[in-house]
Amino acid sequence: MKVGFIGLGNMGAPMAANLAKAGHDVAGFDTMAAMPDGVTKAASAAEAARGADVVITMLPNGAILRAVAAEVIPAMRKGAVLCDCSTVDVDSARAVADLAQAAGLGALDAPVSGGTGGATAGTLTFMVGGSDDAFATVAPLFDVMGQKAVHCGAAGAGQSAKICNNMILGVTMIATCEAFALADKLGLDRQKMFDVVSTSSGYSWTMNAYCPAPGVGPKSPADNGYKPGFAADLMLKDLRLSQQAASSADADTPMGALAAQLYETFVEQEDGRGRDFSAMLPRFEKRHRG
Ligand code: NAD
Repeated sequence: MKVGFIGLGNMGAPMAANLAKAGHDVAGFDTMAAMPDGVTKAASAAEAARGADVVITMLPNGAILRAVAAEVIPAMRKGAVLCDCSTVDVDSARAVADLAQAAGLGALDAPVSGGTGGATAGTLTFMVGGSDDAFATVAPLFDVMGQKAVHCGAAGAGQSAKICNNMILGVTMIATCEAFALADKLGLDRQKMFDVVSTSSGYSWTMNAYCPAPGVGPKSPADNGYKPGFAADLMLKDLRLSQQAASSADADTPMGALAAQLYETFVEQEDGRGRDFSAMLPRFEKRHRG
């Protein structure tokens, strides 16, 4: 397929490189980043999009996505699909889908989980919103870049699934970290805590697969000085998106709101910026009640 790829940062570069390696004809554009192997450099986003069957965007936020979409949509050929893989707010995802559809294009919101490791290995999970036809067009590309693509529903459903998942993840990580810090103060050995919880009703992905305590459980960023992994800054971004969506949908999410507040304090006032989101454990370790 002829693919335009816009936004070749930490995630976009390896995703585009995998498409090129699989034999697709990929034209890339980024305002800063270099082109990965096999990707032809376009002079602008519109040029990357011209004549493409699918245009993929992998950008920092909804405002940038809206600006890029306004530029590329008029350049795309009728019937082509605009597929945004960034994590953005649900309202921006729906607005861009409306613009694309009005111009006779297909549109998908297809945020990912799996991080830079998954992007490089081609093992991402895609959560996808949009029409059946657009999903069918892009499915072969999802197969190259990922191991799984779930078609979640209409426009915005992919972003909705992503922020709900990550709200659970943020809340659960905080619960796991505060429980370890409490266990420490009660004199409970961390390995014993893991042995019990990982096989009891408190088990979770954050405990069992991504344990925030160094030297306990499978290897995780805690064993690497809390180098990300999944950065606390990105968790804060996703929690803010969940709260923005909860406000616009009038949903009551008290735990999500508290998690957003704790990650905001951690990233903006403490030492959380640039650290893995599991570094909440050393944060709680240092703290006292009240
Ligand atoms: P990044 O900052 O490394 O990459 C974004 C790229 O977009 C940069 O290279 C930047 O130069 C480029 N860009 C910005 N404005 C542009 C414009 N107008 N035109 C063209 N290019 C432009 O970010 P990333 O880590 O690759 O993340 C991309 C998206 O994926 C984000 O929405 C993020 O939330 C999401 N995401 C990231 C991860 C992760 O682990 N890094 C995991 C899941 C989802």
